Amino acid sequence: MYPRSFEYFSPRSTSEVIDLLLRYGDEARILAGGQSLIPLMKLRLASPGYIVDIGRLPGLSYVREVDGSLTIGALTSHATVLESPAVRQRWPLIADAVGVIGDAQVRNWGTIGGALAEADPAGDWGPVAVALKARVRCSAPNGERTLQAESFFVDAYTTELNSHELITEITFPAPAEGTTAAYLKLERRAGDFAVASVAVQVGLTEEAVCRTASIALGAAGLTPIPAHETAAYLRGKELRPDVVREAARRVAQEAQPLADIRGSEDYKRAAMGALLGQAIDVALRRARGEGVEAGHAR
Ligand code: FAD
Repeated sequence: MYPRSFEYFSPRSTSEVIDLLLRYGDEARILAGGQSLIPLMKLRLASPGYIVDIGRLPGLSYVREVDGSLTIGALTSHATVLESPAVRQRWPLIADAVGVIGDAQVRNWGTIGGALAEADPAGDWGPVAVALKARVRCSAPNGERTLQAESFFVDAYTTELNSHELITEITFPAPAEGTTAAYLKLERRAGDFAVASVAVQVGLTEEAVCRTASIALGAAGLTPIPAHETAAYLRGKELRPDVVREAARRVAQEAQPLADIRGSEDYKRAAMGALLGQAIDVALRRARGEGVEAGHAR
C-alpha cells in the first residue's frame, strides 16, 4: 500500500524542528531512520499530514564516553553504536542488545532515538535503557528536559514525550567498579523482535558477592519491566546456582507478559527465568575475564 500524501520538511536545527512540531501539532511526525514509521505509513496505521525529517540535523550522531558515562546522540544508528570501540570494550550489555536488533538494514538506518520514541514493548533498547538507568534528554519548546528511562515508557508505543518534543541524546551513567552485565534475547528467527529478553547488570565484591543488581525485562509487558524484587533478592548474596535458580523463579513471576503470536504467557514467563539464569552466567564469566558472546539466547 502507498502512504497518504504528506508535506515534507527537512529542518537543519532543533529549534526549526520544534517550531514545525508546534505549528502542525498531532498532524506532524518526526522521521528519523524510518524503520518503524515508514512501514506503519505504508500500512496506513499512521497517516501524518506533515513529516519532519530529522535525518539531516547536524550534530546528533555520536557516541562519547566522558568520565565513565556513555552518551549517544539520538540520530546515531544502531550500527554506529555497535561499531563504537567504547561500546565494544566497556559496554557489553549495549553491544549484546544492539547486535541482535533486526537485520543489517534495520541496524544501518534505525536510530536509538527512534527506537526509544517508538517504545515497542518487544524492542531491545527499552530494557537496556531501564537496566542501565539511562537518562533521555529532549528539546522542548521551553528549553530542554531530562527524563529517566524507568518512567519514560508509559504504555505500549507510548512515552512521556509530548508531540512537540525531540529526543536529542541518551546518557548511560558510569557503572561502579566491579560491575558486569549481559543482555539476552529469545527470538523465533534471527532478526525478529523478542519473544522475551533480559538485561542484567550486577556489581560484585572481591568475594563475588552481589553488591548491586539491576534487571529489566523486554516483551514482558506493555513497557520494559524493571524487575526490582528479583534484583533486591540478589543483593548481598553470592551468585551460586541455587540463588540464580531462585532468582529465575522470581523473575518469571515479576514479568507481566501477554500471550500473542510469539507465545503464551506461561511460555514467556518460563523464557524470562531461563534467560535470567543465562544472562547472570554470562555476566559472571565476563567478570572472570572470559570473552563471552551474548545477545542471542543459547
Ligand atoms: P522512525 O521509524 O523514523 O521513527 C519511529 C518513531 O519515533 C516515530 O513515531 C517518530 O516520530 C519517532 N521519533 C524518531 N526519532 C525521534 C526523536 N529523536 N525524538 C522524538 N521522536 C522520534 N527493533 C528492535 O529493538 N529489535 C528488533 O529486533 C527489531 N527488528 C526490526 C525488524 C524490522 C524488519 C524492522 C523494520 C524494524 C525492526 N526494529 C527492531 C525497529 C528498529 O529498531 C527501528 O530502528 C526503531 O524502532 C525506530 O527507529 P527509527 O530511527 O527507524 O525511527
